[in-house]
Amino acid sequence: MKYDPKSSVAEEFINDEEIRECLEYAEKNKHNAALIDSILEKAKLEKGLSHKEALVLLDCDIEEKNQEIYALAEKIKRDYYGNRIVMFAPLYLSNYCVNGCLYCPYHLKNKHIPRIKLTQDEIRREVIALQDMGHKRLAIETGEDPINNPIEYVLESINTIYSIKHKNGAIRRVNVNIAATTHENYKKLKDAGIGTYILFQETYNKESYEKLHPTGPKHNYAYHTEAMDRAMEAGIDDVGCGVLFGLELYRYEFVGILMHAEHLEARFGVGPHTISVPRVRRADDIDPDTFDNGISDDTFAKIVACIRIAVPYTGMIVSTRESQKSRERVLKLGVSQISGGSKTSVGGYAEPCEEDEDSAQFDVSDRRTLDEVVKWLMELGYIPSFCTACYREGRTGDRFMALCKAGQIQNCCHPNALMTLKEYLEDYASPGTKEVGEKLILRELDNIPKEKVREITRQHLTDIHNGDRDFRF
Ligand code: SF4
Ligand code: SF4
Repeated sequence: MKYDPKSSVAEEFINDEEIRECLEYAEKNKHNAALIDSILEKAKLEKGLSHKEALVLLDCDIEEKNQEIYALAEKIKRDYYGNRIVMFAPLYLSNYCVNGCLYCPYHLKNKHIPRIKLTQDEIRREVIALQDMGHKRLAIETGEDPINNPIEYVLESINTIYSIKHKNGAIRRVNVNIAATTHENYKKLKDAGIGTYILFQETYNKESYEKLHPTGPKHNYAYHTEAMDRAMEAGIDDVGCGVLFGLELYRYEFVGILMHAEHLEARFGVGPHTISVPRVRRADDIDPDTFDNGISDDTFAKIVACIRIAVPYTGMIVSTRESQKSRERVLKLGVSQISGGSKTSVGGYAEPCEEDEDSAQFDVSDRRTLDEVVKWLMELGYIPSFCTACYREGRTGDRFMALCKAGQIQNCCHPNALMTLKEYLEDYASPGTKEVGEKLILRELDNIPKEKVREITRQHLTDIHNGDRDFRF
């Protein structure tokens, strides 16, 4: 197999030989100050790096250069995303699953975990609970099970979610994380109005992949790895990639995910909309220590920084798998989207209780409420944003990327963040959070560069205070 980013064959665009060559090259050059400097010079243009260049930065073990790498990641993060952090929540619909993934408690052989599939009425209750917290953007998740969770169930659920308007609440963007599927099903998801289609690769190493997925349809490495191609061919133009760090050697995964991004860019002219960086966590019958490739907090931070530098246009997501402390660190270095107040069990929002955690996919590290997370972000100087404007204005795929690359998207994100935060403060925030938020909005209004946009935003903030909702640029 020969490396070819334009190929539609999994083992050609994620090419093992190319990855191994890169690993060797980066290992040899990890103290090569001249090479590292030249890569940093290119990175300072803020247009990204190749997988090979980015790996040299990841491996770099010259302390002084590492400080430059972190500083550059922070700068790129600020230049592209300002101080905004987009908020979302996962919603688990069903944990029936026919696969045998060794790192997930929903695997078929787990006979003691409660299996739950939400009815449309139960989904309604979950969504109302999420709306009452203040969420506007969801990522729905199901196990793979053609009998219990057929595509019709997923489509009906999406329809239900979009239809619920409780008080001032609305879910304005539903991202979908379901198993790799056919062109036909991706077309149906597109027609149902999904936001991003999310599918984690788990590991890019084919041999490990096959061992970690011993049974079920997910065992097929090529079918899984080529899923984003089918999704994009079917018209879904925002896709979200991710690996589960801890399963394989992190350096391999790092190159793999960047190659995947390069492949999508080469074939479709648009890279992934987001990259997620989860780490293996403890769960029902899963002990993370079984996997001997766990990564330290320092390595995790370096990975985030180097992804930020390599693909500045791609949003980066961390979930509540990460602790408050770890999230704080990576927010600075590159993460642009986080979940808050998450429940990783099926039906966990409407009826939270201890036993409920039994059906959780993984243990949550950050257990704070959304209100607490929002307040914490604001006290750190971030603007929590509930914005979903691009999707709703049809700014997806290459239209979105073109705006990003022209540096224009910032003019929308900042006022939209302030207006959606204002909605949150009016409808859901505790008095303490509201007080911090109102001050922040006043301060941040001055940071909208165009006077006209600033004036319109000011007017809309008053309109929101007076009861109107859903303004956007
Ligand atoms: S990771 Fe997904 S496919 Fe694998 S067992 Fe868990 S729910 Fe099923
Ligand atoms: S304007 Fe678009 S890119 Fe910016 S935060 Fe909103 S949805 Fe995201």
